[in-house]
Amino acid sequence: MPQYSAFRIFAEGLRGNTGWQPAWRKARPKPRYQVVIVGGGGHGLATAFYLAELHGIRDVAVVERGLVGQGNTGRNTTIVRSNYLLPENNRFYEHSLKLWEGLERSLGYNVMMSQRGVLNLFHNDAQKAAYTRRGNAMRLNGIDAELVDREGVRALCPIIDLDNGRYPVMGGLLQRRGGTAPHDAVAWGFAKAASDRGIDIIEHCEVTGLLVEGGAIRGVRTTRGEIAAAKVGLAVAGHTSTLTAMAGFDVPIETHLLQAFVSEGLKPLVDCVVTFGAGHFYISQSDKGGLVFGGGLDGYASYGQRGTLKEAEHVFATGCTMIPALKRLRALRSWAGVMDMTPDASPYVCRTPISGLYMTAGWSYGGFKATPASGWCHAWTIARDEPHALNAAFTLDRFREGRALDEKGAGPFPWLQ
Ligand SMILES: Cc1cc2nc3c(=O)[nH]c(=O)nc-3n(C[C@H](O)[C@H](O)[C@H](O)COP(=O)(O)OP(=O)(O)OC[C@H]3O[C@@H](n4cnc5c(N)ncnc54)[C@H](O)[C@@H]3O)c2cc1C
Repeated sequence: MPQYSAFRIFAEGLRGNTGWQPAWRKARPKPRYQVVIVGGGGHGLATAFYLAELHGIRDVAVVERGLVGQGNTGRNTTIVRSNYLLPENNRFYEHSLKLWEGLERSLGYNVMMSQRGVLNLFHNDAQKAAYTRRGNAMRLNGIDAELVDREGVRALCPIIDLDNGRYPVMGGLLQRRGGTAPHDAVAWGFAKAASDRGIDIIEHCEVTGLLVEGGAIRGVRTTRGEIAAAKVGLAVAGHTSTLTAMAGFDVPIETHLLQAFVSEGLKPLVDCVVTFGAGHFYISQSDKGGLVFGGGLDGYASYGQRGTLKEAEHVFATGCTMIPALKRLRALRSWAGVMDMTPDASPYVCRTPISGLYMTAGWSYGGFKATPASGWCHAWTIARDEPHALNAAFTLDRFREGRALDEKGAGPFPWLQ
């Protein structure tokens, strides 16, 4: 498999880029593996990578019904941060951010991680108090957080209208180590690194059934035949409940739409990631110059990968309130992903009621930043048949046991998280 270097890029430039090889092998399914991972998004590929890298388990297949990275992994707005409130989420996402910080070296692939800062604006005293509490919780766990005032916001992103008609900006909570990482690079980096370690990545192979005998997993039925496996890990995001239904159990997940938008390319305009606190809107600028922005959920359950005009209108209206100059822009593209929403906005990385069947799911609309830690913890749980301390709280039965992790404080309503 190819190794990348500045010299290699130069040499390939001289010979018309004719020497590159595919970044990962196009594998065919074998009849049996030690572990099968369902879902070739970031979480499935990261699970496979860490199974090989940290636990020496290389007899692994990742089966993906389409192409690698074409699910939510290739549809998100690339924001990476660890500014959570509850200690369980706080520690998990900080572990993830630390993995992001060393990811390029671990994978041998440029995932273009850019720690340009994530700024959450607040507009009234109540929001300021909530963000101060969050910042303090982060700092108590050793995570960087700063409260900035209006002048601080102006210095970070001068184009914001601080006195906008909806709600004047009072300040913001800033995490300087947060930022963005282009999603395609992340999917391809994990795919290459997993394939380099002997893992079979099998595209166009949809799982249509889970083979269960006597309460234990025996393998998967796919559109390319049955594959036997002692252990199976699910990493299928918004399709999790359709997969668990194949094994005969239900999970507390609702599948909802989330949209994203990209504008025409511009010179540098928005230097950090900014979220608006007086409406659902957030924005950053891609390395190619397009403004990347989005808002909240569309608000009804669906598996369609396209959004509604109602939510698009809200996003554009809120964006133009925060940055009036956006009125002169054209949005070039929009799309939606299918989000695996949980009642408390916290995930599941755990064993399931079926012995040998594991899952990483329930990432709501924040699972891209979780990609490395989700794979890391899922791999640990699969390899040892027990959770790591970092994902011990992310179980399916926490609601029955009264241990919900209500990160957003919105109560048991997935569409409000
Ligand atoms: C518009 C939008 C913006 C977002 N912005 C952010 C953000 O800025 N920051 C952030 O942290 N998160 C963000 N997210 C959330 C994030 O994208 C997801 O939580 C994360 O990418 C989920 O990764 P995954 O690998 O679990 O899922 P996916 O990438 O969806 O991978 C699951 C894979 O499973 C495959 N699959 C499904 N069923 C089967 C089957 N039966 N057989 C085989 N394969 C199957 C699918 O084809 C898919 O490729 C955003 C999401 C969207 C949609």
